[in-house]
Parts: sequence; C-alpha cells; structure tokens
Amino acid sequence: MSDFDAAAFRQHFPFFSTQPDWIYLDNAATTHKPFAVLEALDHFYRQQNSNVHRGAHQLSQTATILYEDARSCIQQYINAAEPAEIIFTSGTTAAFNQLAFGLMHTLLKAGDRVLISALEHHANIVSWQLHCQRFGVILDVIPLDEQRHLDQVAYQELLKLGPKVVSLTQVSNALGTILPLQQMLLLAKAAGAITIVDGAQGIAWEKPDMQQLAADFYCFSGHKLYGPTGIGVLYGKRTLLEQLTPIFGGGEMIDHVSFTSSSFNSLPARLEAGTPHIAGAIGLAAAIRFLSQFDVTQIKSYKRLLLNTFHNGLQRLPGITVFSPLHDNAGIVTLNLQGEHPADLAALLNEQQIAVRAGKHCAMPLFELLATAGAVRFSFAPYNHISEVEQCLNALTQAVEILAS
Ligand code: PMP
Repeated sequence: MSDFDAAAFRQHFPFFSTQPDWIYLDNAATTHKPFAVLEALDHFYRQQNSNVHRGAHQLSQTATILYEDARSCIQQYINAAEPAEIIFTSGTTAAFNQLAFGLMHTLLKAGDRVLISALEHHANIVSWQLHCQRFGVILDVIPLDEQRHLDQVAYQELLKLGPKVVSLTQVSNALGTILPLQQMLLLAKAAGAITIVDGAQGIAWEKPDMQQLAADFYCFSGHKLYGPTGIGVLYGKRTLLEQLTPIFGGGEMIDHVSFTSSSFNSLPARLEAGTPHIAGAIGLAAAIRFLSQFDVTQIKSYKRLLLNTFHNGLQRLPGITVFSPLHDNAGIVTLNLQGEHPADLAALLNEQQIAVRAGKHCAMPLFELLATAGAVRFSFAPYNHISEVEQCLNALTQAVEILAS
C-alpha cells in the first residue's frame, strides 16, 4: 500500500470535477493543472498584466519581480547555483534547439562527436541533426540491450571515441524506462564530455538536484509538471551558458546594437530574446510551490502501485505485448495487441472516455528498433485512482474481445 492520499491530491485539479467521466492516462503528453496554477495565471492577467524589464511604471516593475521570483523558485527547486542559471524557454524542445545551435557555433568543431541514446525523444535527436551535416559533427547512438535497456558495455565503448557531448534522457517518454542516469553521467564526465539531461519526463518522477547530478545542462517543460504549456527551462552551468551562441536575437538579450554588429547582455537575459512567457513562468512557479507540499517519495511509491496494478491486470489479457520495463519505470506502460493497429485500440478506449496515446511517441527510431509500427501508451500521474486503472483494464478486456471478434 501507499501512504499517499491520491484523492486529496486529485481534489486540487478542477478538470476531474468538470469532466468526471474521463479517465486521463495521457500524463506523459501533458498533465492537468491544479487550482494554484490556474489562479496564478488568472491573477496575473486580470490584475498585474504588464511586460517585464522595460516599463518605467509600477505594473512593469511588479511583473518583473514576479518573473524573477519565478526564476528563483525554480532555481531553488532544482538546486541550481544561482537564478541566472535558469533560462526560460518555451519548453524542452526549445531548450534542446538552443543547446544544439549554441554548442555547434562555439564549442564543437568538425569531427567532434555527440552521443545520444536509442531511447531519446526527437527533441534530442533532430535538434542535433539540424546542424550535424553543416558543422561536420558526428551523432552516435547508444544501442539497446536485449531487455530494451541501454547497452552499458556499448556505452563505454562509444565513450572511448571521446564525444564532446553526451545527451541523455532521464526517463524514456516512449517506454517509461528510468536510465541509470548519474552513473552514466559520471562516466561521460570522466571521458571529458559536456553532459546534457532531457528531464521532460524525469522532472515529474524525481526532484533533480543540480549540485548532485553530474549534468552541465538539464532541460524540462512546465506542462508535464502541472504547469502551463509554452514554458520550460534550460538549466546550465554559468560558464557553459555564457559560451552558447543565442539562437534568437532581439529584445533584452542585447547589450549594444549597431547596424554592423551587436553585443549581448549578461545571463539570463542573453538567452531570452523577445517578450518572455511571463504568465507561464509565474504559473510554473505556482506549480512547483503546489508540488512542494507533497512528499516526492510517497508520490513515487504511489505511481509504482498504479503501475504494478496495471501490469498485474495485463497478465489476464491474451495477445498483449508490453514494451515497457516493469522495474525502473517512472509510470508509463506501452503495449500492443497482437495483429491490431495501436490506433484502433486507442480509439476503442476513447469511446469509453479513456485518454491514452497511440503512435510512435516522438521516438520513431526507437520504434524501428522495436520492430513495431507504434504502440499504445498509458501514462500515470498521482491524481489517477487505482479504480481508474481497474476500469481501464476492464475496457482493455472488452477492446481485446471486440478486436478479436
Ligand atoms: N523530451 C521528452 C522525453 C519528452 O517526453 C518530451 C515531450 N513529449 C519532450 C522532450 C519535448 O517536450 P516539449 O514538447 O514540451 O517541448
């Protein structure tokens, strides 16, 4: 059993009282938002709305204080050394594009290698590929072993090639696999690489500590942590952030501009061109403050309970192939029904108002390795009830019968 009070947690989310018939198991795509976040957004737009860092008036000063306060809140949550190491982006994808662009233009040169893994989301694949050819940088991939975990022997071999960058996800969005992250990052550091972590899924599983984790950069999206969409974070160590070439120009990111050249502002403004998502940052801070009331260890064990209940129930169902690991899993189960298209299974569940995702989950190369055209993903959050898992299993049983008939 778990000490976590899921019913009390769920009460904070208005979606479940306005849409009581839905069973929402698409949390890896995005989470619902608690009152605290909705109220913070509403309050800002109704009563404080103004741009940051530029107005001479009180409203702008208030917006600036709130925006910078949000930065400090996130800095404290992930234990970054200073607020300037928190760069607001529109999400993990934007953070990766800034990183790949910024590193390619400064620290990487032709012949250098970037090492990613077979479990990566497209954000940590395509953002590198966009530049690799032009800059002559080689992208290597850590393969899977037979258990669909990353092959650690192959990893050590690839490290011998001396990658300049090792960029890994913390948790696979497609399978739920939790990587042995710290161990892998320490090996990467020992090999002299810059380390990057895709925390888009990991942030909802574990509170990261930037003083402990051997990561030079850590990226995440607010919307997977009960915050608004369109806001995310690129954390980086100051000395490295200072070396990134900004991907966007304009707004407060400049120091001096002439028609022939520009010089750039100091961090964090240097990497935040244009009007930022002020309300988003405030909303993300509200999400983090909300979440900080709860015990992360209890949440983890409750998610494990949801996962185990689902896994056990699946044993009763014939013809199901589960791709996700049972252990070292952050609360995601990806599966297929033999001979059926994943979209058909998801459509039958949708008819019963069960929200899941079907497809290749922004991890196409991984699905090629798994030799399947896609799969149905069930992803759990602490507001899901055990009874919802059971209802979902019943719906799956019916769907299996319908599709078999
Ligand atoms: N990486 C991982 C592991 C993800 O799960 C996601 C979101 N599916 C992303 C990156 C991209 O996040 P966003 O779409 O919020 O930029």
